[in-house]
Amino acid sequence: MPNSILSDRLPSISEAGVAKTGSIRCEQASLSGSVSQRACVYCGARVVLNPITDAFHLVHGPIGCASYTWDIRGSLSSGSDLYRHSFSTDLNERDVIFGGAQKLQRAIDEINERYHPPVIFIYSTCLVGVIGDDVEAICREAEKKYAIRVINVQAPGFSGHKSLGYRLAGEALIKLIEPHGGRPKVKAINILGDYNLAGEIWIIKNYFKAMGIEVLSTFTGDASYETLIKSPRASLNIVQCAGSMVSLAEKMEERFGIPYVTLSFFGLDDASSALFKVSDLLGDEAVRKRTKEIVAIESLKTKNNIKPYLPRLKGKKAAIFVGGGFKAISLVRQFKALGMETVLVGTQTGTKEDYEILGSLLHPSAVILDDANPAELEAFMAKRGADILVGGVKERPLAYKMGIAFCDHNHERRHPLAGFVGVENFTREIDRSINSPVWAMARNDCPF
Ligand code: SF4
Repeated sequence: MPNSILSDRLPSISEAGVAKTGSIRCEQASLSGSVSQRACVYCGARVVLNPITDAFHLVHGPIGCASYTWDIRGSLSSGSDLYRHSFSTDLNERDVIFGGAQKLQRAIDEINERYHPPVIFIYSTCLVGVIGDDVEAICREAEKKYAIRVINVQAPGFSGHKSLGYRLAGEALIKLIEPHGGRPKVKAINILGDYNLAGEIWIIKNYFKAMGIEVLSTFTGDASYETLIKSPRASLNIVQCAGSMVSLAEKMEERFGIPYVTLSFFGLDDASSALFKVSDLLGDEAVRKRTKEIVAIESLKTKNNIKPYLPRLKGKKAAIFVGGGFKAISLVRQFKALGMETVLVGTQTGTKEDYEILGSLLHPSAVILDDANPAELEAFMAKRGADILVGGVKERPLAYKMGIAFCDHNHERRHPLAGFVGVENFTREIDRSINSPVWAMARNDCPF
């Protein structure tokens, strides 16, 4: 295994989160303040469930928790836009003393009078974990009273970090779909771990439609109550963002007998092999033939369209810091295909397996970091001479401060990066950013 940074680490940099040769240290508890950038448990649950477009997302806690709104995910809808509103019980000091149960009951009554949603997710945050409202009992009562689903997501932020929130969201989804299990299977798939950022799930669904494969449900991009409850009938689950959805896929296999496969639609090779994999697992000869045709046409078109950018990108150095390992792995492969070198890669919630794959893909001098803080990222990017950083909203100012290019590969972006069209968008964006004359100017000493 390559990728040790032990020999030349900067002495001022904390050892926490640094991957070591042969013993990658990851999946550790977050250290608040100086090290971790991970969001809280409630945030993890919210980002997974929030894209369910016709659900009512009610935050039971102080108003500050409700600052996580639709725009933390930015997923698009083809139907309802209820999910884009933010609702909170706005607990305050009085509720800490007397409890927030009555306020929650009143909120549920009001929601039903005004919105009539098919499902309400109640996110029980830190304060509820402390004062101990019996949210489960309130949910049971509300389900009986209104004949809708009211599901408690017990996610106090202090109980772990974002990854636990993903698991809790998976459990909430199982509660939602479980009553609809036991029906006969159909030859169709569910897509897990795609949140329809910039309409990506529509792009992927179009490929499957052209191949002749039906998509029953999507978790949770552009999902609705009616589509989700069909999911137990599928014959195969495909899991894209494994970090957030593999626990749900495992539960669906256990409860409904649906096998799953993890794959990625980011990058030419990954998108092509994802489509081939699904056609092999589910399709007949006709489906395989159509898949071959689609991949051949789209690959050729994409290769021709990105060709002019390749000489401008060759030899440039990339740094990556993203949420999960699956995306980091795809990005490393994408940069390799563009003739670029990845000199640093890090994730917030990558697993040991993710880091082992990354280790096998990277040059021995590359740096791998788990759950790094901005100071660590900055120091290692400067040391390795990165030309561009790929990350999320928290990393953007860091890149600009260092005078290097930046590519947003997180929930806030407005253009699709998945599928064949995503490869073109990604290449164009990397070129525009990395070859902008502004970086040379920004790095020069300004006389003013
Ligand atoms: S850590 Fe607690 S108080 Fe803060 S946003 Fe998360 S749930 Fe709310």
